[in-house]
Amino acid sequence: MKRIILVGGGPSSALCAYQIKKKHPDYEVNIFESDDQILKRILISGNGRANFFNNAFLEGKAFKAFNNPEAFNRFIDPQAARKLISLLSNDFEFSYYRDEEGRMYPFSNTSASLRDALLKGLRKVGVNIFLNSSVKSIDSKNHTVLVNGKTQEYDYLVLGIGGYAYDRKPDSNSSLLSNLNIKINNDFQPALCPLKTNESIPSPMDGMRLKGTLSLYRLNQKLYSEEGEILFKKDGISGICVFDASLFINDALNGYRITFDPFEHDGFKVSFNGASKSLDDLVGIFPHSFIQALKEKGLKKAGEKEIREALTFNIHSKYPLKYAQISLGGVLPQCLDNNFSLTSSPEIKVLGEAIDIHAICGGFNMGFALLSGMIAGDSVD
Ligand SMILES: Cc1cc2nc3c(=O)[nH]c(=O)nc-3n(C[C@H](O)[C@H](O)[C@H](O)COP(=O)(O)OP(=O)(O)OC[C@H]3O[C@@H](n4cnc5c(N)ncnc54)[C@H](O)[C@@H]3O)c2cc1C
Repeated sequence: MKRIILVGGGPSSALCAYQIKKKHPDYEVNIFESDDQILKRILISGNGRANFFNNAFLEGKAFKAFNNPEAFNRFIDPQAARKLISLLSNDFEFSYYRDEEGRMYPFSNTSASLRDALLKGLRKVGVNIFLNSSVKSIDSKNHTVLVNGKTQEYDYLVLGIGGYAYDRKPDSNSSLLSNLNIKINNDFQPALCPLKTNESIPSPMDGMRLKGTLSLYRLNQKLYSEEGEILFKKDGISGICVFDASLFINDALNGYRITFDPFEHDGFKVSFNGASKSLDDLVGIFPHSFIQALKEKGLKKAGEKEIREALTFNIHSKYPLKYAQISLGGVLPQCLDNNFSLTSSPEIKVLGEAIDIHAICGGFNMGFALLSGMIAGDSVD
């Protein structure tokens, strides 16, 4: 009999705990969760719909969505993705659907279905769940953790502690990892969040949405580009394509600029053929609020150049962590073997968002968390 301790009850730990207990019914598998419920993030994800996965994992194309594609490819392949989907369908009796962009959601279109299916699976195999139980420290020499004032021994320790975005206390786990003697990117910056711009957004544009193609540059080097919808806020810009661009922005640096080309989207194009148009002639092409903002700039006529200029923004900073879906940073992938074990202490595994590999929106982050948990769980002997 072995004793497995999982710190954190997120999707990564859930998959890991399930796989271990299913393979080794005699092992004691304990999840310690600091919050009053496990899998809380699933409930809020995807606007309550849990965009938990993406077809790109199955097609071997998901690496393109990650900020460290080489590290991603070392851990994940399409075979693992197929195994995960089959596990969710068969073991957890969870049904899903896929939209045109390959994003996968619970068939019920409610995130609670995924949370409940995972919970049911954990109960079925007999994983023990301890709520309101924050793991305070790890003694890797003696294979113990301190939780609820007591020392608990482990044979395997799994760290599925997530990041610092949204509702998490900054740095709450820094001391937990500090004596493991591993390399950690401690610069836990927000990502998948709105951006503040140096330019103030003209008041008519506050709340306006515009479709087109966003491009992110730093010092004239193009870092990212995506067709999508931008949402204007008083002090900046938001929307999925802006969230995705934030993955490639380091708040410690400056010189980031976003341009937005509103002349083409969804395969349709408008062209001024080099001409300037009176602003009143733009009413059938752009939202009234945008035309109003151009008027307030003092323009009478505008060509494509002026319109692109009005949609160019220098980035001041990202919105803070509480407005972000994920935090950048975490345990460096090079500290981990292909089964997510620390190379320095193979009985300790690190999963999901706690690893410094992150992705754009679309089910990639939760997908990575689930996959890391499954792969790590399978490797426990
Ligand atoms: C608003 C929002 C929307 C999102 N939408 C999507 C989406 O649609 N698609 C997608 O792919 N991703 C989405 N994400 C990101 C996704 O939720 C995460 O990538 C994913 O949950 C990471 O899983 P994890 O298991 O690594 O960590 P988490 O889900 O963060 O779980 C970690 C758990 O560990 C617990 N914990 C931490 N420290 C300790 C400790 N010391 N002791 C005990 N317990 C501890 C935490 O309380 C938490 O329950 C969203 C995130 C947010 C905030």
